[in-house]
Amino acid sequence: MPSRINGACTRVGSAGWVVPSCTMTAASAPPLAGRRALVTGAASGIGAALARRLAADGAAVLAVDRDEAGLAELTRATTGVEAVPCDLSDLAAVDALPAEVDVLVNNAGLQHVAPIPEFDPDRFSLILRVMLEAPFRLARRALPHMYAQGWGRVVNVSSVHGLRASPFKAAYVAAKHGLEGLSKVIALEGAAHGVTSNCLDPAYVRTPLVERQIADQARSHGIDADAVVEQVMLAPAAVKRLVEPEEVAELAAVLYGPASASITGASLSMDGGWTAH
Ligand code: NAD
Repeated sequence: MPSRINGACTRVGSAGWVVPSCTMTAASAPPLAGRRALVTGAASGIGAALARRLAADGAAVLAVDRDEAGLAELTRATTGVEAVPCDLSDLAAVDALPAEVDVLVNNAGLQHVAPIPEFDPDRFSLILRVMLEAPFRLARRALPHMYAQGWGRVVNVSSVHGLRASPFKAAYVAAKHGLEGLSKVIALEGAAHGVTSNCLDPAYVRTPLVERQIADQARSHGIDADAVVEQVMLAPAAVKRLVEPEEVAELAAVLYGPASASITGASLSMDGGWTAH
């Protein structure tokens, strides 16, 4: 007989192991029915795609962002998503966000490009706060709830820049490398409580964050937008295309799906072969 263990439909295999039985859940209930997810940076780009996917997979989604207009657009178009306006650089506000969260998606991010001698220290501090300290605070608050129920998923939207550096992106690269470390510690501490933690590591994804970079670089290099994508952004990748936000959401779904119990402390690359070098 199938049963629900760690949130997934399971059966007992021939050797006595409990194994996922995906076909049994597919027709009955979506994988996150009855679960609550919190997604940061949900008003735009990857976060919006993640929020839509989590809602389609049955979760009640808390969409956190400082962009209230973007949140309004998301909630208007998607059922099961609730807007939670919050500036994640305000750590007191982060500590006031709901703690009863089953799937925590740390996604909000911002970029600043400058050589280190000219890098504004306040900007560095802001980026570390939003992209590393806020994820720590959110995990710190959500983990006791996840531990109490013996199930939880932490999905950290890192980047190829969590694994590789690029010049002029000191804060972003430092924050993403830090997030990779935080994710692994959560994985080790959470394992005994049915909690997994992983990083998603895409290269360039077609979002407003990247559209802004394309425009900036086109101006500074004196070349057109297509040339920036081909000659600058896709230069280190073997697969010469931008990733789509929905592809990142598809990979995230693996991390909370029926085969996810043993995927933890991992960094899942979606970088067109960038890190194969
Ligand atoms: P985006 O600019 O489209 O979305 C980022 C969201 O984060 C925005 O809605 C913004 O309002 C929100 N945000 C920023 N600062 C905030 C703050 N202080 N408080 C609350 N919300 C805040 O960018 P995106 O490309 O969708 O990026 C999402 C994540 O994916 C980021 O962590 C980014 O580093 C990562 N990522 C992006 C790419 C890419 O190429 N686009 C590649 C790898 C990783």
